[in-house]
Amino acid sequence: MFEDFRFICEYFDAPVFFALSGVGDFMVSYGRSQRLLERLLGLDVEVALDTNGAALQEFPELAPERLEKLRFINLTMHYHQIKQKNLLERWPANARIILERRFEQTHPDYILSPPLRDEWEEAIAFYAQTVYAHTGRPLIPVRDVNRPFTPDDEDRLARLYARFGEVLKGEYVEDFSAAFRDRPEVMCPAGVRYFRVWNDGRVQGCPNLPNVPSLHDCGNVKERRLTVRKALFRCDTPAFCDCSAIDKLGMMRTPVE
Ligand code: SF4
Repeated sequence: MFEDFRFICEYFDAPVFFALSGVGDFMVSYGRSQRLLERLLGLDVEVALDTNGAALQEFPELAPERLEKLRFINLTMHYHQIKQKNLLERWPANARIILERRFEQTHPDYILSPPLRDEWEEAIAFYAQTVYAHTGRPLIPVRDVNRPFTPDDEDRLARLYARFGEVLKGEYVEDFSAAFRDRPEVMCPAGVRYFRVWNDGRVQGCPNLPNVPSLHDCGNVKERRLTVRKALFRCDTPAFCDCSAIDKLGMMRTPVE
């Protein structure tokens, strides 16, 4: 997999920002002896990392100059799985190491899933005792967009904010279209400077518009193929995860009439 990263960096011959996210956890996708994160951070890159904190691999040993290239760490506490997999000691120890090494850049969050509502309070109390008490870093509640809250869930959440005070901070609502309410059209760099690379090597500029071939199929890094669009795409459906990610990276443009 390292050679895939290197191929991308060499192809663009410029700093590359990798967002390591999606199905499966990057940190458990390789063995510790491979030191993949360390080698990746040795390239001309910046990295945003989504992790569930179950495994740290070589993270605790990263040299400061490599650690600095980790610009954002989204640390999600999957409390139900932490209990099921008997990680009640290991997970908070890992979370504390991540925060110790990259405090400002780490954003711990917890998905409030309505089917697991009876566990919400226990989960937040666990975080409060094992992570917040040692680090002072609050937990960001995230609404599960796929399962709407009932009025009772809203009350429950309000009571949790009241009980836990500073432990819970803010709230993340995954409404990707919100940033585009006043911008129904954008000039998008998908396929030019933004790509989504799948685990099997497929590269897409935008996975949301299958009827635009130059956006939907940009090659395959495992076959060492990349096809890059020359021009930005004028898009009137900016409402998805990728659109939001591109916008947050400051790469989305307003159309010029
Ligand atoms: S704005 Fe979103 S939907 Fe439109 S091309 Fe870009 S990534 Fe795709």
